[in-house]
Amino acid sequence: MSDYCLTRHRTLPHIVKVSGGRSSAMMLLRMLRQKKLKASRKDVVVFNNTSAEHPATYEFVRRLKEECEQEYGIPFFWLEFQTYEDASKGEWRRFPTFRLVQDRPYSKSFRDGYKWRGEVFEEMISFHNYLPDRIKRSCTQEMKVSTTRSFLMEWLALKRATAHRGHYMNKGQITEDELARQVKYRNGHNVEEYLDRKRCLLQSEYRRPPQQFNDFSAVGVRPLEKIKKNVFAAEEAMLSPEDYADGYVSVIGIRGDEPHRVANIKARMAREETAEIIYMPLAEGGVSKADVVEFWNKKEYDLRIPYETNLTNCVYCFMKSHNTLVEISREMKKIDDSMPPELQSVKNTPSDIKWWIDIEKKYQRIREGKSERTKGGNIKVGFFGVSREDDKKAPSYRQIRLLAKRPPKKSKSIASEEELVHAQCSVCGDY
Ligand code: SF4
Repeated sequence: MSDYCLTRHRTLPHIVKVSGGRSSAMMLLRMLRQKKLKASRKDVVVFNNTSAEHPATYEFVRRLKEECEQEYGIPFFWLEFQTYEDASKGEWRRFPTFRLVQDRPYSKSFRDGYKWRGEVFEEMISFHNYLPDRIKRSCTQEMKVSTTRSFLMEWLALKRATAHRGHYMNKGQITEDELARQVKYRNGHNVEEYLDRKRCLLQSEYRRPPQQFNDFSAVGVRPLEKIKKNVFAAEEAMLSPEDYADGYVSVIGIRGDEPHRVANIKARMAREETAEIIYMPLAEGGVSKADVVEFWNKKEYDLRIPYETNLTNCVYCFMKSHNTLVEISREMKKIDDSMPPELQSVKNTPSDIKWWIDIEKKYQRIREGKSERTKGGNIKVGFFGVSREDDKKAPSYRQIRLLAKRPPKKSKSIASEEELVHAQCSVCGDY
């Protein structure tokens, strides 16, 4: 299935990607028990927080991090996408980067905490100035793939801390006037509409100070410090994963009963030339969803999201099928009632469909429809692509909520449906 068995690969750093679902978590724990991970090889576990996960997912990943670091001594980092301001070609601009976060929630008095009210997701949309959709999943690319790669540039370069990003002024330099000037000069966008979309970005952090790895992990870089005393005296230059001479191994929790996702990964690897070597231990071992359920039934803790629901990954991810999204919205109150108060959905955050409705309304594009399908009227382009009130194949979150208020046509378990997010996305989609 893969060429991971080559002896050479066993000496390379292993990057274990945990999405917050049960499959990747089981994969991590099995590898730890089998002693397949080594801190001295620069092995590391990463969780990319989109700020749109269910509260129970955060609780689960917090326990995983604790077990991984305290019992097995392998560093486990929570990462978040963020942007920063810098000068480029004579003007101030925003650039993407990442930040390390603690496994406690963000607040104004605790800025190193993880965000969970959709702030990271909205910053990403505001940065791109368009919504992700089923064809162009800028959310996965930016908040997961690129964020992990930026992190690896610094982690694999054997630094003690991440580098400073952004200018050293004492406030953000991009103003609404400056943005309006730039957009008028460039392509004549509707200035008001453009500024509305960019306001979130202007209010986001304008720099990322250096962050010590040891402050964000109970293990951090300590094992390397012990083994190679002089390694940090060496130049602390940026190192791109592509430049990393020997490569690295990405360990991904795709199961044996997900052949479509395995095929997607293989197709991507064939397209891209990278130093990344993919290892899918669950797929190679033929581990199925039933095996995952059995594993967690025997464990002293579990993801406290009921098995028959589909709340993992971003709670109302647009890659989930329409029926599933309707069911989640319809059943959320019942699901909440079965959970302790601290794990229930929270109003006006991504565990509430209203957050998705508001974001879609704010960032959707309204264009004049010219094709026969749109019958000449205005078209809205949202998370599901072109949306019209009567188009069931491309609805909006508002329509999904309306459908959820109607009685169900027939009873159907949410988890029984084949999920788009599972079928198409090789990064998100853990069970
Ligand atoms: S889970 Fe869905 S919404 Fe979230 S990053 Fe992945 S594709 Fe995007």
